[in-house]
Amino acid sequence: MKLNERGLLVVISGPSGVGKGTVRKALFDMPKHNLTYSVSMTTRKMRPGEVNGVDYYFVSKEEFEQKIKDGKLLEHAEFVGNYYGTPLDKVNEQLDKGNEVVLEIEVEGAQQVKNKMPDCVSIFIVPPGKEALYERLRARGTESEEIIQQRIEKANREFKKAYLYDYIVVNDEVSNAADRIMAIIRAEHAKTERSIYKYMELIGEKEN
Ligand code: 5GP
Repeated sequence: MKLNERGLLVVISGPSGVGKGTVRKALFDMPKHNLTYSVSMTTRKMRPGEVNGVDYYFVSKEEFEQKIKDGKLLEHAEFVGNYYGTPLDKVNEQLDKGNEVVLEIEVEGAQQVKNKMPDCVSIFIVPPGKEALYERLRARGTESEEIIQQRIEKANREFKKAYLYDYIVVNDEVSNAADRIMAIIRAEHAKTERSIYKYMELIGEKEN
């Protein structure tokens, strides 16, 4: 398959609590796109309001470890005591159909994807300031103080990884952040290296 016929793999990442999930949802609410979301697998407990198969595939530790052994995950990471990972089959299936696939994952997993699929587009979402991030982590109200502290420490380490990404997007307003991501995706699609083969076909020129 030629590069340009496959969909684009978009990796959205950033420190814990930056609002990646909210930005991703706003992105999917935008009109006219063919983005598909890759539902992750996790061993963490379901939060109120979450739906199995929509927010995550909630599985046991044993099931997750079996998936790792069987090579069924594109990437995986341990995050504050739980496993999170991206099912490989579904990603490839959608990319082969020419759909854009969006992953919303933490920093370690994002680097694994970048190494395995260097053609992906990686976006690091940052808060307008560190305090805004700490407030957001506390405001969620579903986790114990110990877990919140662990997430804050994790976020402080994650901040330093921004330089590894193709793009940095500030989440000042959710709709602004989603707009910026959509602009990046559209621009990436038009990149010569992604669209040259199709163009050559269009004008009847054979590729080398
Ligand atoms: P939460 O428990 O708040 O839903 O997610 C915790 C962190 O795990 C978030 O930073 C989220 O983006 C990340 N995450 C969700 N799914 C995946 C995944 O499939 N792989 C990796 N590496 N991280 C994930």
